[in-house]
Amino acid sequence: PNANLYVALRAAFPQRGSATAIELCDGPHAGDRYSWDDLERGSAKLANLLARLELPPASRIAVQVDKSVEALMLYLAVLRAGHVYLPLNNGYQEAEIAYFIGNAEPAVAVCTPQAFPWFSRIAFQGGTRHVFTLGEQRDGTLLDRAAHCDDVQQPVHRAPDDLAAILYTSGTTGRSKGAMLTHGNLLSNARVLKDFWDWRAPDPLSGEGGDVLIHALPIFHVHGLFVASHGALLNGSRMLWFSKFDPRAVVARLPEATVFMGVPTLYVRLLGEPGLTAAAAAGMRLFISGSAPLLVETFDAWTARTGHVILERYGMSETVMLTSNPCRAADGERRRGTVGAALPGVGLRVVHDDGRACADGEIGHIQVRGPNVFAGYWRMPEKTAEEFAVDADGTRWFRTGDVGQRAADGGITIVGRSKDLIISGGYNVYPAEIEGWINEMPGVAESAVVGVPHPDFGEGVIAIVVPRAGADLEGSAIIAGLKGRIAGFKVPKQVFIERELPRNAMGKVQKNLLREIHRGLFG
Ligand code: ATP
Ligand code: MG
Repeated sequence: PNANLYVALRAAFPQRGSATAIELCDGPHAGDRYSWDDLERGSAKLANLLARLELPPASRIAVQVDKSVEALMLYLAVLRAGHVYLPLNNGYQEAEIAYFIGNAEPAVAVCTPQAFPWFSRIAFQGGTRHVFTLGEQRDGTLLDRAAHCDDVQQPVHRAPDDLAAILYTSGTTGRSKGAMLTHGNLLSNARVLKDFWDWRAPDPLSGEGGDVLIHALPIFHVHGLFVASHGALLNGSRMLWFSKFDPRAVVARLPEATVFMGVPTLYVRLLGEPGLTAAAAAGMRLFISGSAPLLVETFDAWTARTGHVILERYGMSETVMLTSNPCRAADGERRRGTVGAALPGVGLRVVHDDGRACADGEIGHIQVRGPNVFAGYWRMPEKTAEEFAVDADGTRWFRTGDVGQRAADGGITIVGRSKDLIISGGYNVYPAEIEGWINEMPGVAESAVVGVPHPDFGEGVIAIVVPRAGADLEGSAIIAGLKGRIAGFKVPKQVFIERELPRNAMGKVQKNLLREIHRGLFG
């Protein structure tokens, strides 16, 4: 059988191909609908265009474009053609693109018409043979060329271990690494999530009914491209498609939807909309959050406002989804501040530095295995080898780089990344714990706790705190407030009040930058 992921996705499309697959919710074409047939034929044309280029098998197709349904079709086309999809964050600028092109050596690159002058120069210099453009309004050379191609195509035969995509990690802890994901990785995870999150299928004939997904995430990252898009496609579910996240517009469409997926900042911004009410969310079945820690304040505020309990899950570029809070009430309650238990088929263990298993409640390194775990970092065999722990019996465990604890019921709490752990005076300090205490203080919007070199303690704990609008905070008052509540070695020696935290293109806090800025603090 053909293990090409597209074959499995297409098998889930409703029989009535004219039913709506995707409705555009913003931009000049708002209201336009794409049918299942449109997706099938549009991606066939693009796959046939790729075939005409006579590329070597498993060529990388690098794509840095604005979010559009055509960009999604291009992803599907790359799967169909048996090549490797390589999406790039559209925030990346010249130096970053030069790194990715040089590292991945794509045979084909696709950029926006506006970026073509500089992007194509970098790509051609890097040896890329074909550079196409794809604009937000169905413009550009890619679709012009594909227009002349046949709209029927047989997906190329792929084995489960063949590469489907290379996803560059977010670069939160250092330079982005290319995570190689196979057709088997992606399909197994999509199937597990379909079941675990209880996706309600539409009528298989008419395509009516069932879940409707609000898709408001970028599609260059695991969350929007795999978790959200695969979720809907593998269920034959309609998507309400936002090319940009606009909280007011999303709230306006909630009554037509049943599932929403967002990163924590999207939830914060939605809470800023007065229109977000229990009535507006009454028809929703599931709100899912991930990619970064969801603050307990956000979790609670969401329940208070909408009556819905956000389901938090945890995953990464290298492994797709790893854990999830329960979906069905029968499976238990969703606990705030936790990311749930390992998904079916995912092996997860928490271990000490020396590899010994932690007892329930003990904090240690999270390691995982399973059909979802990637094939390695692109062209980084040493890094790949370093990131796998191999047991005496040969079992390989991927070191996630995250630190956490497991409760007796299997629920996982993440306390930070191993690279962000602070050791002060020989004691472990977990930044997330201190941040939790600080965030609860009046006038605090958010905070980041890091360790910087300290002559006596090895590392000294410091905090960078962002006040709420209008609040007047004093670092010394925050320190005084923490003393007596937590052990002295955990209390930051210095607190800086800043307007914002440095974030990367995915909105994740860059603690390495904070450490860099403050590294000379204690001499
Ligand atoms: P890099 O690996 O390049 O430093 P990154 O790890 O941020 O960047 P991603 O693969 O996009 O790149 O993100 C995965 C990480 O995001 C996880 O390892 C984890 O630290 C964090 N993460 C994801 N979901 C959650 C969550 N629900 N709660 C806390 N952290 C999460
Ligand atoms: Mg990472």
